[in-house]
Amino acid sequence: MLAPPGAGKGTQGERIAARYGVPHISSGDIFRDETARQTPLGKQLSAYLDRGDLVPDDLVLSLIKDRIVAAAKESGGYVLDGFPRNLAQAEAAAQFARETNTSAQAVVYLDATADVLVSRLAGRGENRADDSAAVARHRLEVYAEYTQPLVDYYAARGILVKIDAAAAVDAVSQQIFSVLDRIKD
Ligand code: ADP
Repeated sequence: MLAPPGAGKGTQGERIAARYGVPHISSGDIFRDETARQTPLGKQLSAYLDRGDLVPDDLVLSLIKDRIVAAAKESGGYVLDGFPRNLAQAEAAAQFARETNTSAQAVVYLDATADVLVSRLAGRGENRADDSAAVARHRLEVYAEYTQPLVDYYAARGILVKIDAAAAVDAVSQQIFSVLDRIKD
């Protein structure tokens, strides 16, 4: 999954994972779980999450890699949500995929205008500390600088599936499934 904050990546990621019977690996969920448990690592992570900055790559990789390896072994695949988020992580993800024989079949890119994203983030501001207006705005800037370039990266590899994320949640799922069902067959 490749998507700006507020596009619905978590919701759609869970639905994709359920439909195809593979684990949903969400870097954000993993980090929030770690911070909620107030482990030493969690305290380190919360500084980045609270600001809306990217967690350093070495920390990200150390928390994600084992889950990818386990998912590949147990389920033959996985949905990655929130990772990779910059070019260095994309190279690492490709390496993990080679090592586990699970090369990416598709990169689902949820596309939405800034207006849609800002209003969705504002709407859930009560639920997530990092959805406050200032931090959400910063997350959108970080996305534009580091993550948006992955759209071209995956388009060049021929695996980008662009979806209009402004539609209703179920309609977005239907668009995604209709493409992924064809890729799977
Ligand atoms: P969103 O896409 O709405 O920003 P996420 O749950 O994917 O939500 O990410 C929340 C926060 O977790 C990010 O702002 C960032 O601090 C951190 N994060 C998540 N995934 C990564 C990653 N792959 N690399 C670096 N930081 C990450």
